[in-house]
Amino acid sequence: MADKRDYYEVLGVSKDASAEEIKKAYRQLGKKYHPDVNPGDKEAEEKFKEVGEAYAVLSDPDKRRQYDQYGHAAFENGGAGGMDFSSMDFSSMFGDLFGGLGGIFGDLFGGGGSRSGGPQRGANTRVRVRITFDEAMKGVEKEIEVTLKEQCETCNGTGAKPGSKVETCTQCGGKGQVAYTRQSLFGMTQSIQACPQCRGTGKIIKEKCSACLGNGYISRKKKLSVSIPAGIDSGQCIRLAGKGEPGANGGGYGDMLVEVDVSDHPTFQREGMNIYSNAYMSFAQAALGGDVRIPTIDGDVIYEVKPGTQTDTRIRLRGKGVPSVRDKSYRGDHYVNLVVQVPTKLNSEQKELLKKFDESYSGKKTEEGTEKKKKGFFSK
Ligand SMILES: [Zn+2]
Ligand SMILES: [Zn+2]
Repeated sequence: MADKRDYYEVLGVSKDASAEEIKKAYRQLGKKYHPDVNPGDKEAEEKFKEVGEAYAVLSDPDKRRQYDQYGHAAFENGGAGGMDFSSMDFSSMFGDLFGGLGGIFGDLFGGGGSRSGGPQRGANTRVRVRITFDEAMKGVEKEIEVTLKEQCETCNGTGAKPGSKVETCTQCGGKGQVAYTRQSLFGMTQSIQACPQCRGTGKIIKEKCSACLGNGYISRKKKLSVSIPAGIDSGQCIRLAGKGEPGANGGGYGDMLVEVDVSDHPTFQREGMNIYSNAYMSFAQAALGGDVRIPTIDGDVIYEVKPGTQTDTRIRLRGKGVPSVRDKSYRGDHYVNLVVQVPTKLNSEQKELLKKFDESYSGKKTEEGTEKKKKGFFSK
């Protein structure tokens, strides 16, 4: 116990972190290391316990104060805190906490089917796919390569060698779940968990299926086609029904959630349903008016600027923005910032012409009796 990590370090928060920050860190890490997300990963399991322990202390103002004062010694050997972490039921704590998060966790952990000997739907899986900005605007069909766990056909997913004996689990009597009553930080709590002996199936396999080595599924690399609708934004998901993990005891497959990641575009920026970009006009175009070429996601459009258009004039191209994923008839707008481009490379003739122009322009101002006569472009 001497080499225990600092609780603040475990959660990755500062010593003066607020209760809200602690909770947030705990949720994120809890998700990351949750046993349901990392089946069979011992290291993740340890981390998960460590995170739960750190949170149990830091989320309780009294315990946090004790910890700040005495460190880990506050809770060792039935000391001040007298907590026995080794028997704490962290997964039920997480269950409580995450129950309120609804959708997200339902998705992550699969339909939330009860852990019993009955049919259990498989967990949802998540993959990411990167697409270009243009693909997001037009919609695209993407092929992704994924590893799918498919139910073993030899044993129909039971994991038992066909024709071999399958016995009822003695620990849970075939129910697949066991109840634990525990003294926890929150008083006596009862939690129902998957039976550790049969892993929730209610059955003990005597001879394993040789095709799947008793797993009940076989992992295969597959190419899947994902239809990504126009208008999709980074972080949004496409659901591929039935492409998640296989269920247990005849439960169906979970879903695969394909999270889309949209690359930035050199010209266009998206904000909600609108697009923002710059377009460039020459000094002469700005002064005299004229046709300016403006790139949009549908290709270039020609826009007629009025004479005397100032730099940073914003115009709106109605209906040229992001198409709606839900309503094909709706599109956002495209806002264009018109920028005057000042020439940087001029030949001597052009310089001469501009000087003449400037003299003429400044001279006119002088006649008008303004103070601007000295403010010509090239005067010193
Ligand atoms: Zn099998
Ligand atoms: Zn059992």
